[in-house]
Amino acid sequence: MSRKLLTISLITTLVAKVAFAEVPHVAVDIAPVHSLVARVMDGVGTPDLIVQPGASPHEYSLRPSEAKALQDADLVFWTSSDLTPWLTDTIEILATDASVTELLEADGSIELELRESALFEAHNHGEHDDDHDDEAHKDHEDAHDPHAWLSPKNAMTWLNVIAGQLSAANPENAGTYFANAAAGRSEIEALIGEVNATLEPVRGEQFIVFHDAYQYFETDFDFPASGAISLSDASDPSPARIAEIQVRIAEEGIRCVLAEPQFNPGLVETVLDGTKAQMSILDPLGSDLELGSALYPQLIRNLSIVLAGCL
Ligand SMILES: [Zn+2]
Repeated sequence: MSRKLLTISLITTLVAKVAFAEVPHVAVDIAPVHSLVARVMDGVGTPDLIVQPGASPHEYSLRPSEAKALQDADLVFWTSSDLTPWLTDTIEILATDASVTELLEADGSIELELRESALFEAHNHGEHDDDHDDEAHKDHEDAHDPHAWLSPKNAMTWLNVIAGQLSAANPENAGTYFANAAAGRSEIEALIGEVNATLEPVRGEQFIVFHDAYQYFETDFDFPASGAISLSDASDPSPARIAEIQVRIAEEGIRCVLAEPQFNPGLVETVLDGTKAQMSILDPLGSDLELGSALYPQLIRNLSIVLAGCL
């Protein structure tokens, strides 16, 4: 190799290294949001995941490698402090140099109010409000249902938000980020049509979910659940709440109750005891799916397939 060619080849290697070093370190809270960020970063880099698949984000102990991912992060994307209150201080302490985006707070995000009751008659709180409910309401006045990734409309909005933040931190790859986001939006648009087609034959059927996590999916697809065994924060339900659900299942002949892989199915079995309903597993986090850009569409697709099968 001539001296000149060698020099050029060395320079090329160096430039390539510098460009690679400039790909930002990105940390993301949960697998479905990680999937959206991975879609935007396709061909550029791979984000790190904080809450491991199979764990509940509502309660979580950070491992050293996850703390390190936050420390190293140039950008952090997370869903909402209502989903992971424990992560609020952790991000502030560990991700000191990062640009942090709380997606539920982003412009254009659809935010739904928390539901308090076990049964979703919806919007008639006045009827069975007692003093206790009033207090609970005051506490939650600013709280939103944090499971907002289960709205594909939000996912489409967030793809653009993610592309915008990544491009600001890493302008060299802005073209790729925005092209990926646009392609991702088209994919989700097609997915919405597919899910509507899957749900069409079972529209109007009633089902009970394990914890109140599916309001965004129910709203996007106009496919309401009848109730939830546990509250939106997945805390243990009171015996009165369980009894209320059991009465509803018996009275309305509800055939389908959905458990979740993140939680002990014992509670669902208790609820099902003495009823004719069957149990299926609904997974709002895609914990058995491979991490990456394909996880999000598969997670939403699976919700519709499990629902249609259970009903
Ligand atoms: Zn939840």
